[in-house]
Amino acid sequence: MTATIGFVGLGNMGGPMAANLVKAGHRVTGYDLSAPARDRAAGQGVATAASAAEAVTGADLVITMLPTGRHVLEAYEELTAAAAGALFVDCSTIAVGDARVAGDLARVAGHRAVDAPVSGGVAGAEAASLTFMVGADEADFTAVEPVLSAMGRRVVHCGPSGAGQAAKICNNMILGISMIAVSEAFVLGESLGLSHQALFDVAATASGQCWALTSNCPVPGPVPTSPANRDYRPGFAAALMAKDLGLAVDAATATAVPAELGRKAAELYASFAQGTGAGLDFSAIITTLGEQSA
Ligand code: NAD
Repeated sequence: MTATIGFVGLGNMGGPMAANLVKAGHRVTGYDLSAPARDRAAGQGVATAASAAEAVTGADLVITMLPTGRHVLEAYEELTAAAAGALFVDCSTIAVGDARVAGDLARVAGHRAVDAPVSGGVAGAEAASLTFMVGADEADFTAVEPVLSAMGRRVVHCGPSGAGQAAKICNNMILGISMIAVSEAFVLGESLGLSHQALFDVAATASGQCWALTSNCPVPGPVPTSPANRDYRPGFAAALMAKDLGLAVDAATATAVPAELGRKAAELYASFAQGTGAGLDFSAIITTLGEQSA
């Protein structure tokens, strides 16, 4: 079924996602505050509007892909031009609490709402191979699933409103902690005279196996496509990992969960992202762990 879609936020992720919706035959009108982002999307066949309100006018589906919860909440307050009953789909990574408030704002305005954050990064957005984690009731999930499938390979119904964001921050807490664990293991191995390749060859097929090791390996060599082989150009920026771990810590605090390693990882990534890690892939945190050991 062809949907009429208003798409707000055409950045690194939103731009290629909107382009994939056009490729799948949907009518997509997009808006971004940044003129270059609008121009890039226009070059991919996305019709562009002069404002967010114009982009969502008459849309039966409104997708947002914005940096933070504040941006999403501000946008939701302004997007009253969407048709009554329109389905609002927020794909940004934001706090579980903000996702629930955003959903309530949309519902009070006479719309429907789901949270559908993604995993898979810019490469996944470009290749339409993202994983969507969806918080929605059954009827809204059934309605949104075919549209999300045009931008991703897996669409998982995680539970009611907010459950998609909960899955996203829990997953990224695993990722942040495991990247630090893998990095510490390489630093320790090196200090014991073990080559990076030897440790990789063992751990990649043993109980130390994880995505941080086998797909995003923090040392150059064993995984040629990992950011370590291109001076740690992202990939997944350290600043985004710091943001996601901050959301996980806030959620842990709100629910009285200790999450000691999650809190430590959040601390390390916050200082790394503000310092030498600014602009680098999150795997570059190994360079600071190495320095500390030296
Ligand atoms: P980005 O900064 O490249 O894009 C965000 C876009 O939103 C920008 O182009 C900005 O101009 C636009 N924008 C901000 N406020 C706006 C407004 N009020 N109206 C219209 N446009 C507005 O960020 P991104 O990498 O595309 O990430 C978007 C979201 O996806 C974030 O929440 C991020 O955490 C999440 N995410 C990113 C990745 C990744 O690898 N980049 C992976 C998974 C999830």
